[in-house]
Amino acid sequence: MAVKETLSELVAIDSVSSHSNVEIASYLKMRCEAMGLKVKRFPYMDEKGVEKINLVALNGTDFSDSTEVELALVGHTDTVPYDPKWTDATTLIEREGKLFARGACDTKGFIAAALSAVERIDLKSLLRPLALIFTADEEVGLIGAKRLAEARPLRARYSIVGEPTSLQPMRAGKGYCLAEVIVRGREAHSAYPALGASAISRAARLIVRVEKIAEELREEQHSSFDPPFTTLNVGLIRGGTAKNVIAGECRLTLEWRPIPGQGSERLLELLWSAIADERKLDPDFECVVDASRTDSGFEISPTSPLVHLLEKLTGKRAGTVAFGTEAAQMIELGADSVVLGPGNIRVAHKTDEYVPTDELQRCVDTLTTAIDSICR
Ligand SMILES: [Zn+2]
Repeated sequence: MAVKETLSELVAIDSVSSHSNVEIASYLKMRCEAMGLKVKRFPYMDEKGVEKINLVALNGTDFSDSTEVELALVGHTDTVPYDPKWTDATTLIEREGKLFARGACDTKGFIAAALSAVERIDLKSLLRPLALIFTADEEVGLIGAKRLAEARPLRARYSIVGEPTSLQPMRAGKGYCLAEVIVRGREAHSAYPALGASAISRAARLIVRVEKIAEELREEQHSSFDPPFTTLNVGLIRGGTAKNVIAGECRLTLEWRPIPGQGSERLLELLWSAIADERKLDPDFECVVDASRTDSGFEISPTSPLVHLLEKLTGKRAGTVAFGTEAAQMIELGADSVVLGPGNIRVAHKTDEYVPTDELQRCVDTLTTAIDSICR
C-alpha cells in the first residue's frame, strides 16, 4: 500500500490519548500480520480504567524470555486532542505538497513510513531480527513506553524513535520533570496580620530562591543543546481564598528539563536546600514537594554506528531535541536510540498539523535503507 494511503487510514482512526487505542492497535496488528510478522499485544488499563495497548511485531525471531532484535522502529499511536472546529482533523487532505490531519506529523507519518519500508523489504532475506513497536499514551507522559520498559519484552541493539525532526537524526534529548510545590500558611482576617502567616508571601520568597537555582543550573552546561543548560519554569501558581483573608495555602507548578547526565534529583536537592534555608529565617515555613514526573534525558555517542548511518542517509548532522521522547525507555531496553521522523515539531500539536509529502516519502527511503544496512 502507498505510504499516503496508509497515513490516510491511520489518521482516520481517532486515537487521542484520552480514548482507548485498541482500534488503531488492531489496525496495526492486521497490517503487521499481513506482512508475516509475529505480533504481541501488551495491554494495560490507564489511570481512568481505559484499555491501552502497546504492540510489538517481530521479524526473524519469536517472543521468548530472551528476545533480542538488531533494530526496533518505534512510533506512538496516540495523538493530542484537536479543536472540534477542525472538522477535517481525521481526514487526510493534501494541499500544496503537504498532508494535513491530526497526527500526520506527530507521529502517524513516521508509523506509515515504517510500515511502507517494511513492506518494501524481502523480510526473509534479512539476517538479523527487526521489531516494530507501537506504544500508547506517549503524549500524556510516555506511559506506554515506560510500561514496556518495565515489561522488557525484548532487548534491542539499535532503535529509531519516530518524532517530527524534519528527518534530522537526534542523538540526545533533555529530560522532563514536574513537581507541585504546596506552601502552607495560616489563615486569618487580613486586618490582623499577626494572627496569620501568608502562604502567598512564603511562596513568593521561595520563588526568588527558585530563580537563584535556575541561575546555578546555568553553570552546568551541555554544549549540544540550545539553551545549553537545564531550564526551569514556574508555570502555574494558585493561592488564597479571598482578598481579605491571609492565604492559608499557595500551590506552584515547577517544570524543568534536565540536560542528559543530570538526574532529576539534582534540582530537587537544590530545592530542598532552598526550603531548609527558608526555614532558618521562618521556622514555621511548611511546604510539600510532590514530584509527579522525573523523566531523565538521553544521549548516545556521536560515534555510534546508528548516528553515522542516519547522518549519511539523511545528509544531516545529528542534533538534539528539547522535547520529551521515548528514546530514554528504548535505551533501558538496551538500544542505541536516535529520534528521527518526517514533519516539523513546530506544527505538531496545532490545528492544521501537517507532514510534507516529499519528506514522508524520503522517510520511507531512509528507513528502508536503514533496515537493509542494519539487519542484513
Ligand atoms: Zn510525538
